[in-house]
Amino acid sequence: MTATQPNVAFIGLGNMGGPMALNLAKAGYPLTVFDVAPEAVKTLADAGAAPAVGIAEAVAKADVVITMLPATEHAETVYLRPGGVIASAKKGALLIDSSTINADAARRIAKAAKDKGFEMLDAPVSGGVAGAQGASLTFIVGGDKKTLEKAAPLLEKMGKNVMHAGDSGAGQVAKICNNMLLGILMIGTSEALNLGVANGLDPKVLSSIIAKSSGRNWALEIYNPMPGVMDNVPSSRGYAGGFGSQLMAKDLGLAQEAAQAAHASTPLGEAAWKLYQKHIGQGNAKLDFSSIFQLIAKDA
Ligand code: NAD
Repeated sequence: MTATQPNVAFIGLGNMGGPMALNLAKAGYPLTVFDVAPEAVKTLADAGAAPAVGIAEAVAKADVVITMLPATEHAETVYLRPGGVIASAKKGALLIDSSTINADAARRIAKAAKDKGFEMLDAPVSGGVAGAQGASLTFIVGGDKKTLEKAAPLLEKMGKNVMHAGDSGAGQVAKICNNMLLGILMIGTSEALNLGVANGLDPKVLSSIIAKSSGRNWALEIYNPMPGVMDNVPSSRGYAGGFGSQLMAKDLGLAQEAAQAAHASTPLGEAAWKLYQKHIGQGNAKLDFSSIFQLIAKDA
């Protein structure tokens, strides 16, 4: 630890926030942590972080506050309620929300923070739990560029890429554009493989042909959804682990909210959202999002 390292408060210590906070503790940052789940706080306290009993205590001495919460309503509560981050943080603190939330809500929270004199970034991440554990996340950041320059050394302890998307809310918009495209690609890849197999092709042969042709894409080449085509991906282990279908449905829903707010046409994004909702409605919420292949194969 160096004398220049800021005090950090980390709120929301779940699948992502837990390992991200651990990486900051390992890097020597003085860390105070809070989560409504006491067992999550204990894990970090065992690693040397100071446990707080509530948000006000967690942020009281923090130079930087990082939050990693499930969804929009949690972020609104944690930042905006009496006794929340904006009411309780010390003067001059830098606020960073890494949760994936509604872009308009991110702008409202940033405005409320600015009105109280705080600098704030929305900094959702890509890379999943493995990226959080391995400090290889991509941070997709909205807010002032100079504020990001201040935050970058800290974010680089938790991630490999720190990208500036634009003003407040732009990080959230870029993140859900990426995830909407990923959801569409996963469904399209599942359809193509299912069509080939239904017509007698070997899925490994078909995958290798598409990988050298114009239909190539990440879902096919890195994360193939059809069991047996690739080792070490969720489809080869019953779709366990990875990025849950429920989280993909959540991000596709956020993409629809952003599309409606901006009157942007996203017919495939809407179709993808409906298919994922159907899939989780059939009891597959926790299965990796590549398990949408099963829905396509079954419907056929
Ligand atoms: P999670 O549910 O595992 O963790 C969220 C944590 O926030 C929980 O420990 C919960 O107890 C805590 N929490 C909820 N309300 C709180 C409050 N009022 N005060 C303090 N703590 C509170 O979720 P996660 O998987 O860690 O995801 C966090 C965010 O990151 C989500 O917005 C998600 O969409 C996004 N994300 C997740 C992944 C992934 O693969 N899991 C990947 C990229 C982005």
